[in-house]
Amino acid sequence: MLPILDKFSTQYAISEQFAKELADTEFNGDIHSDYATRITSSIDNSIYQVVPELVIFPKSHLDIEKIFRLAATEPFRSLKFSARGAGTGTNGQSLTTGIIIDTSRYMNNVVEINLENNYVIVEPGMVLDQLNEILAPHHVFFAPNLSPGNRATIGGMTSTDACGKGSRIYGRTSEHLLELECVLSDGERVSFEEISALNLNKLIASCTQRNSLLENIYQVVDSEIIQKYDKIKAQFPKLDRFMTGYNLAKCYDPILQKININHLVSGAEGTLAFITRLKLKLTPIPHHKILFVISYSDFDQALRDAKSLLSLNPAAIETIDDNILKLAKEDEIYPQIRPMLETHANHEIAAINLVEFIAHNEDELSKSSIIAQQHFKAYNRLFHLASDKDEMAILWELRKKGVGLLGAMKGNRKPIPFMEDTAVPPENLADYIIELRALLDSYNLRYGMFGHVDVGCLHMRPALDMNDPKDQALVVKLTKEVNDLVKKYAGVYWSEHGKGFRSEYVKDYFGEELHISLQKIKGAFDPDNKLNPGKIVVPFQSEDQLVRVNGPFRGLQDAKVNPQTQAMFSGAFDRNGTAACLNYHPDQVMCPSAKVSHNWVYSPKGRSALLREWLIQLAEKNHQPQPLTKTPLGTRSKINTSDFSYEVYQSLDKCLGCKACATACPIKVDIPAMKPLFLAEYHKRYQRPLKDYAIKYVEKTAKWQTLFPHFMNSLQSTAFVKTWVQNKLKLMDAPLLSKETLKAGLKKRNDPKFSFADLRTKCQSNDTQKVVCIVQDAFTSFYDAEVVLAVYDLLTRLGFHVYVLPFYENGKAAHVKGFLPYFQKKAAHATAFYNKIAHLQVPLVGIDPSMTLVYRDEYKTMLKDEVKFKVELLQEWLVKQLPLINLPARDATESEVISLFAHCSERSLAAVSMIHWQKIFKAFGVKLSIEKVGCCGMAGTFGHETDNLELSKKIYASSWQKKFDVNNTDKTHLATGFSCRCQVKRFSNKQLLHPAQLLVKLLN
Ligand SMILES: Cc1cc2nc3c(=O)[nH]c(=O)nc-3n(C[C@H](O)[C@H](O)[C@H](O)COP(=O)(O)OP(=O)(O)OC[C@H]3O[C@@H](n4cnc5c(N)ncnc54)[C@H](O)[C@@H]3O)c2cc1C
Repeated sequence: MLPILDKFSTQYAISEQFAKELADTEFNGDIHSDYATRITSSIDNSIYQVVPELVIFPKSHLDIEKIFRLAATEPFRSLKFSARGAGTGTNGQSLTTGIIIDTSRYMNNVVEINLENNYVIVEPGMVLDQLNEILAPHHVFFAPNLSPGNRATIGGMTSTDACGKGSRIYGRTSEHLLELECVLSDGERVSFEEISALNLNKLIASCTQRNSLLENIYQVVDSEIIQKYDKIKAQFPKLDRFMTGYNLAKCYDPILQKININHLVSGAEGTLAFITRLKLKLTPIPHHKILFVISYSDFDQALRDAKSLLSLNPAAIETIDDNILKLAKEDEIYPQIRPMLETHANHEIAAINLVEFIAHNEDELSKSSIIAQQHFKAYNRLFHLASDKDEMAILWELRKKGVGLLGAMKGNRKPIPFMEDTAVPPENLADYIIELRALLDSYNLRYGMFGHVDVGCLHMRPALDMNDPKDQALVVKLTKEVNDLVKKYAGVYWSEHGKGFRSEYVKDYFGEELHISLQKIKGAFDPDNKLNPGKIVVPFQSEDQLVRVNGPFRGLQDAKVNPQTQAMFSGAFDRNGTAACLNYHPDQVMCPSAKVSHNWVYSPKGRSALLREWLIQLAEKNHQPQPLTKTPLGTRSKINTSDFSYEVYQSLDKCLGCKACATACPIKVDIPAMKPLFLAEYHKRYQRPLKDYAIKYVEKTAKWQTLFPHFMNSLQSTAFVKTWVQNKLKLMDAPLLSKETLKAGLKKRNDPKFSFADLRTKCQSNDTQKVVCIVQDAFTSFYDAEVVLAVYDLLTRLGFHVYVLPFYENGKAAHVKGFLPYFQKKAAHATAFYNKIAHLQVPLVGIDPSMTLVYRDEYKTMLKDEVKFKVELLQEWLVKQLPLINLPARDATESEVISLFAHCSERSLAAVSMIHWQKIFKAFGVKLSIEKVGCCGMAGTFGHETDNLELSKKIYASSWQKKFDVNNTDKTHLATGFSCRCQVKRFSNKQLLHPAQLLVKLLN
């Protein structure tokens, strides 16, 4: 029996009291002390885990003031706080045992766009790509760049002083800040911008309160920065990627006599002040770009080439090494990239450099292009010029995929961040890398390297098994050794991702004297060490300690779970926290439930963290999940809402099963695969709601109901039944059965009843190329029979001999709800039949994408090699038949605008099949566009569950609904998924066709 998990119920008296008193101050945000939220906020992209006591989601700067004003009073002075954006930090920057203040849920708005004066004011939780999307119509952008731009926040970027591709031209985040509004640790709201150093004394005098934090800050700037400027200048490394945070060198400009405190705050990882608003500089978008890919037969050559490439003054030079290129060859992205890389026969590519040029006009760009090509030819470089937008995008996608490709490495040792952003002067890079590789090779480590050679910063993540104490010790040892090497080559250990748990090495770069200055600065801003304590530096004369590289590794907890269970729930353990699932964009499929709720407990990152914690707690109680064993009847009890398992259940219950996390997440965290495993175990202890049984048997009941479709439809439409279903079963808006059943429709077409013997004879006597079998699914066959008939008509008219196979329950709905033994039985039954058909070498084709994809996903996981058949999606099969079909000539016209809405599982698991639809429609003389949309919010039965209505509606409104507004009615819209068509009908009152329905019309 699943044990009750109550480890989390530890009371934190002071923070609980703080939460209560804060709520009484008319605080507008959310305050969470539940374990699920705390666990979700206990990880970032690092190897560490620290569980906070409380997580707060403020709504405005006023809320932040209230938090810190209250925290400045007794008994709350001892409380510790850490700001959090998207939690993509790679070194534990936002982790704390205290209270997390997360701005990503609400404080994510643009406050003002001022084009005349060239600035934008935003709240700190604003996502970089979202901001740039808003600015794009004005032809300006916020220039600092970073790979996770679709989820990283401006507050987080500022606090790590982020930068990425193009930093040589555009610099870092701190160079684009005009003004920071901050709340200090005593609750005072202040603004920092560039000021005249000559006014410093006046400012000190004008501080209304003596000895206030602000007065102390101005004083310390004078004593520790202005007075020590020569020492600072001599100490700081001479690098493009200069020191981040507490940037003493940039805070004061002795020539212009300017002071800018933002250079202290930016990169300080929230240790000095809480940023509440940011006034940012705008930069004109360079609309003209080209990208060269230069290939090399060895990585060292690529690195050494950087120096000569720099003479061309490109916007960026990014490199990718042989290890990553090898992994990329296995990735879905490679076929699109191959023609650009493999331009010369017999040239083994071991590394590439991507060299980008940008310009504000064509002439300028073509000059750069000509000079660059002359240069490459003079140096005998093999190159490809990408000037097409899509080509450039896919090449940059390859570069962005670097971390993900490494993450997908097989084996227990996974690439981990801790030395991933070292930088040395570019002229030292090649020699530094030779020594670094020798060091890593001496420990027999696998790794890949990619990054910004133009600024001497290379990313690398050695693969280690963080469950293994030996590898944990190696992290500590290697950090020290690599740090020594970086110093030898005059570089910095953290040129991009901040310091976090690496803070113990700060002193190495600042030196003894300036380190004391840092402590004094920290003391002036935050005398009680309550802002992200332990990171970067502690206040002068404080007894507090810094966090250390050997901080609480996640692996220490993981090791409690046995390898079999870890393998069963591999996504929960492999997940590395890149937070790709927090992607803000409504028209991309990634995790709809997280996107619209802005509640990361509902994200794959949150869900996998909860599952992992659940398994750790079960392991501590010696319980091992056995999801395939049945539960004796009558042993289930009522739900205990204070059991941690219930929190995990609540989080997983809102997963729509779109499968985006199974593909778009670099680690391929597959929540829909783990959810049924959890539910199967959970419901051994706890009763199921009635609706689960209705869903389990939905295929069976639908089949039975088609015996009396008119009667069942009339019954289902009565107010009494509707109310009963809604109130008792908690289900709603169930579709009506097809008026003409599939059986009747086939009979009308004189289709004989399916006979295996007939099929076998046909296959033996005939050309099997012209035979095709349709695999039925419950939803299309019983509720949308006209679609099956359209497919039948289409294929028949194209000259195929079509067999509609008898209906077999495929068990998908039962699987979603975790009825695993039942699913196993159904899958085995269907597999036996389809194996028999496949043995005849005839193609099997499915119509509904999500029901069809089950055969290659869940069936394979459950039955492994027993599954010997393959069911193709209609378009996957049909596209291959095009050469065999004689279609009447019809030119694709621009005037016919047909757009296709694909099912989210189809886009996730069979993305290339969208192109197949386009090819098929082209062959029929029609131009098809693929709509960029997220999930529709229905996802099988999810949207029919009454408790999910609100979420389902929100998801639909965030993406699909916009495509059906009144201005858009002249388009013909198609949808492949049955549930998607139901959702559009339900919320936009529009009946979309399946593509086959239109194709068959085109044959008329
Ligand atoms: C796959 C991957 C690729 C990456 N690539 C890059 C890259 O190209 N360039 C780069 O620079 N970084 C990169 N990073 C690191 C990371 O994305 C950056 O550090 C980013 O700036 C963090 O933003 P965030 O919103 O996730 O902040 P978080 O991780 O939530 O927080 C980062 C720090 O900022 C502080 N903070 C957040 N909000 C505030 C606030 N309002 N006031 C005060 N302090 C605050 C936090 O306390 C913490 O110390 C990468 C990370 C990943 C996972």
